Amino acid sequence: MASLIILIGFVLHAVLKGAGSALGVGGDNPPLITICLYVLAIISGGWYIFPRALYAARNFRPDMNLLMTIAVAGAMMLGEWFEAAAVTILFALALMLESWSVGRARRAIKSLMNLSPSTARVVKDESETPVDVPLEEIEIDALVQVRPGDRVPLDGIVEKGTSFVDQAPITGESVPVVKTPGDELYSGAINGDGLLIMRVTKPASDSTLTRIIRLVEEAQSKRAHVEQWVERFARYYTPAMLGIAALIAFVIPVLSDGDWQRWIYNALVLLVIGCPCALVISTPVSIVAGIASAAKNGVLIKGGVFLEAPSKLKAIAFDKTGTLTYGKPSVQEIIPQNGISSSELLQLAASIENNSTHPIADAIVKKAQNENIELLECSEVIVHPGRGITGTIGNRRIKVGNPDYTGDAGATDEKISQQITNFLTEGFTVIAVKDEQHYYGVIALRDEVRKEAVSTIRKIKSLAIKSVVMLTGDQKIAAELVGNELQLDRVHSELLPEDKLNVVAELHSRFGNVAMVGDGVNDAPAMAKSSIGIAMGAIGTDTAIETADIALMSDELDRIPWLISHSRRTMSIIKQNVYFALGIKLVFIMLVLFGKATLWMAITADMGASLLVIMNGLRLLKVKK
Ligand code: ADP
Ligand code: MG
Repeated sequence: MASLIILIGFVLHAVLKGAGSALGVGGDNPPLITICLYVLAIISGGWYIFPRALYAARNFRPDMNLLMTIAVAGAMMLGEWFEAAAVTILFALALMLESWSVGRARRAIKSLMNLSPSTARVVKDESETPVDVPLEEIEIDALVQVRPGDRVPLDGIVEKGTSFVDQAPITGESVPVVKTPGDELYSGAINGDGLLIMRVTKPASDSTLTRIIRLVEEAQSKRAHVEQWVERFARYYTPAMLGIAALIAFVIPVLSDGDWQRWIYNALVLLVIGCPCALVISTPVSIVAGIASAAKNGVLIKGGVFLEAPSKLKAIAFDKTGTLTYGKPSVQEIIPQNGISSSELLQLAASIENNSTHPIADAIVKKAQNENIELLECSEVIVHPGRGITGTIGNRRIKVGNPDYTGDAGATDEKISQQITNFLTEGFTVIAVKDEQHYYGVIALRDEVRKEAVSTIRKIKSLAIKSVVMLTGDQKIAAELVGNELQLDRVHSELLPEDKLNVVAELHSRFGNVAMVGDGVNDAPAMAKSSIGIAMGAIGTDTAIETADIALMSDELDRIPWLISHSRRTMSIIKQNVYFALGIKLVFIMLVLFGKATLWMAITADMGASLLVIMNGLRLLKVKK
């Protein structure tokens, strides 16, 4: 609209000027009517700019609005009506562009929202046909039908049916996951070719997808250091520009040719050039775009700071169980002692482990269930994180856990300690079952190392990370076996949760920025202590999503090197933008000093630079795995 006015003004100006010179009348000044049109354009473009400039001036915090307003006012005083109008309009356009581009990146996040439909097909019982019900009205425990090809509308558990489900939209996982009754379904995933009936476990307002979107949106408030740097820079830079412009306008003419008109004009050009528009726009756009594209790849980054930090990582500490390994151990051997049978040993262990959520506990309980062993009544249970668990059965106080921790009852038995060493060297995790007097035996479990672990560690090392270490509560021999297989720099074993924290602190002081990667099972303190806490497989564990700085929705380890590269890519785009924006300014400052720049050129360059840095930043949205 405003540009239309300015265009009419310009054409009118040209036509009248042409007519004037043809008739041999009139001078350089545009006629009143065109001036009126330019003023109209200035008012319409300046509608948003001038009040902000006034506010900035009142608070003695000069900003780009103030620079522009002074430039426009000055141009009008010099009678440069057209240039004044052009500066206003183009600057207003640049501001619009800024809000559009940040909005564009935000919408990329919002588009995750479209992943879930607005209604779901609720079924009352088998015979009834499903009815479409808006998601907000669906209650927990409702049964919902998900047809082949449908989006999963809410979080829930499969009641009936089997199907491959594509979770890529939320986890970025490339391979569909098979879902059978009892398995969890997450809103936003796409059903393959089986018909599923699911039982809703969470209201729409609390589904995994809703929470991801909320966290990503909140992430924008935690600003990256570069963003803060640019802001601080602009805070000194802007008044400095005002000062230099004042010098050019009022001192140079006195010292040199006394051509006030010309030097004031040059000072105005400098003000327009001085506008840190492109500089200020580029960083937030890149950061928001980087966070949005990471979210699309199943990596939830909870703030600009944490998008920036992986690029500066020096060391990474991995938890073993559930992170480098699948965390789903299975019982391999049961060696009873002291005259009891295998199933009696398993019964004792499982009855106590039934009170723990540890993966080892799950494996032992599952084994007992498979063998139809009845669990015993167990009381006064105490869980010792990183060590084991104690409980009372009958009048016996039984310990299940790491053989070192469970104490030395029966440790004199040569045969069993040899047995334990053998298991450990073969890569088993060994759990001992004892009470104060008796050694009931050991259970050996095996947990597989993730298939992509070796290649992931290699990739991480090729990214010039100085130290990649493993932290585990498991025994030394078993831990070192894994460490050797993965070519880790160091293995810290037999750690309690608080020891892990100390190792992370030590890595931090030796190398600098350190990330702690865990599955959230008792490594939250170490994750909190690290520069970046990264949670794996966060989709199933709500607390991991909430407490980590970065959550990998899937449990694919290769997201970690991806994250490091993505962070570096983002930072290099930001750097390109900052250098480019500042470079353009420098060139123009030179042009001003030689008196070769016009307001027109200055504002066009600024607008062009803004456009380029925005496009460059938005490239991050396109990043794929
Ligand atoms: P990681 O550091 O590898 O994630 P944890 O810290 O969870 O492992 O556990 C460390 C060790 O403590 C295990 O290898 C096991 O020996 C023992 N442990 C922990 N919890 C239990 C439990 N519930 N039952 C038996 N042993 C346990
Ligand atoms: Mg663990």
